Amino acid sequence: MDAGKELVAYLQSELGAGAVLVSEAETSGYTEDWRARFKGPALCVALPSTTEQVAAVVKACAARGVAVLPQGGNTSLCGGAVPQKSGPPPVIVNLSRMRRIRQIDPANNSMVVEAGCILKTVQDAAADAQRLYPVSLGAEGSCQIGGTLATNAGGTGVLRYGNTRDNVLGLEVVLPDGSIWNGLRALRKDNTGIDLKHLFIGAEGALGIITAATLKLHPLPTHHAMAWFAPTDVGAALKVLGLFQQACGSRLSAYEMMNDRQLQLVIKNVPDRRNPLAAMHAWHVLVELADTQGAEELEQVLQQVLEQAMEEGLVADAVIAASDAQRAALWEIRHSVSEANKKEGIGLSTDCAVPVSAVPAFIERATAAVHAEAPGLDIIIVGHVGDGNIHFIPMFSFDAWKALPDPDRMGKHMRHCVNEQAHALGGTFSAEHGVGQTGLPEMAHYKSPVELALMKSVKQALDPANLMNPGRLLP
Ligand SMILES: Cc1cc2nc3c(=O)[nH]c(=O)nc-3n(C[C@H](O)[C@H](O)[C@H](O)COP(=O)(O)OP(=O)(O)OC[C@H]3O[C@@H](n4cnc5c(N)ncnc54)[C@H](O)[C@@H]3O)c2cc1C
Repeated sequence: MDAGKELVAYLQSELGAGAVLVSEAETSGYTEDWRARFKGPALCVALPSTTEQVAAVVKACAARGVAVLPQGGNTSLCGGAVPQKSGPPPVIVNLSRMRRIRQIDPANNSMVVEAGCILKTVQDAAADAQRLYPVSLGAEGSCQIGGTLATNAGGTGVLRYGNTRDNVLGLEVVLPDGSIWNGLRALRKDNTGIDLKHLFIGAEGALGIITAATLKLHPLPTHHAMAWFAPTDVGAALKVLGLFQQACGSRLSAYEMMNDRQLQLVIKNVPDRRNPLAAMHAWHVLVELADTQGAEELEQVLQQVLEQAMEEGLVADAVIAASDAQRAALWEIRHSVSEANKKEGIGLSTDCAVPVSAVPAFIERATAAVHAEAPGLDIIIVGHVGDGNIHFIPMFSFDAWKALPDPDRMGKHMRHCVNEQAHALGGTFSAEHGVGQTGLPEMAHYKSPVELALMKSVKQALDPANLMNPGRLLP
């Protein structure tokens, strides 16, 4: 029996035959990303149900020198969760069967969940206990808690609650040698040495497999006020943000922006989506306020700030959601952008962040840089403008993309042109999606030798054989 077959047979004996997928028909959903842009071979897909089973799989792979690729909901936007095209095929360890909510402690405002829990399931369980788990993103119905931790996902709640990293109290991790670290503490204060959980958050599975987490919960806001408005330009959108921050403090819970092209694509490509305003404007902002009391006061503040902004010539038109259904409809527009863009063509998604004050300059410079390369190219802009994270997306039609002599090169080059503008303004090329496969050349380009050497020495210390998710994160 060859070595690969022997390992598969061993894993089947450990996990049960139904928990180790081998045929192309069974594994194709795991070896290709959801946009069908990345695909690579795997030895098999293991579906462990317990932390001990994850440890057994990792130990077996380590003993045989076989690479391991941890996988959550496979919603990565940068090719992080599927095997590389070339190189020895890894064992994919998909966490979807580890989906127990182990504990909710409302008095401590915390919950312990397994890594395979879908983000939405976790939000709902917290809400049932009158608490909020605040990480929220378009893929929340399919991405897993483990994936959000491994990528330190951002999303729409960062302005008020921070990134995933800010909402974690403890972790349980299977290390590259198969040993288990139980760091599931539920403390808000613990100064006993280096805070190890932060090594694994945002490490994209390169240092170990997260199997469970203690998450931080917040009071559940029960009152909301929301508006959709057209700022007169990007600078005006930031001035209105300042007005909201001054008037509402931490009750400002979302501030999202998109350009006219993004809204047009959502309306065109996703059923039942329409422009909330009477006319199409160059820029659109969704703003939400939330609190545990005082619905009327929230609406008053929202209205007052928008009126002031209109008087100051910062806002051209606005509409306030009059019901929960209208509020949900506005969120649906925001959460439909990836689906709309996927149907339209090949969008070269970027994930830059700059200081909030530099957003107008970033958009202006990135537009000029892209149009210098491809005059008139469609540009889609959508972002969490309240925290400085802008997804600037040069968009090719499917036909124009096919006609390019070297599409891969064009994709890398265009993204780099955009990333250069963010870098020049003190920004980053990856605000929330991670590095995955697409970001590797940019890591090599933008990270200083000292930073890269530090990261490599951490990797070397934990995974000297380089078997845990090789070929991502570190160039
Ligand atoms: C429609 C849509 C909207 C999105 N919006 C946002 C957004 O607003 N903000 C944002 O940050 N991201 C967004 N994303 C990207 C993506 O959803 C996030 O990166 C998410 O956190 C990935 O979770 P996942 O479970 O799908 O992980 P996967 O895609 O399966 O994996 C991502 C990375 O994490 C590693 N990994 C997965 N699980 C584990 C684990 N248990 N232990 C160790 N490593 C692991 C994988 O090896 C891979 O490197 C969006 C994606 C889509 C499709």
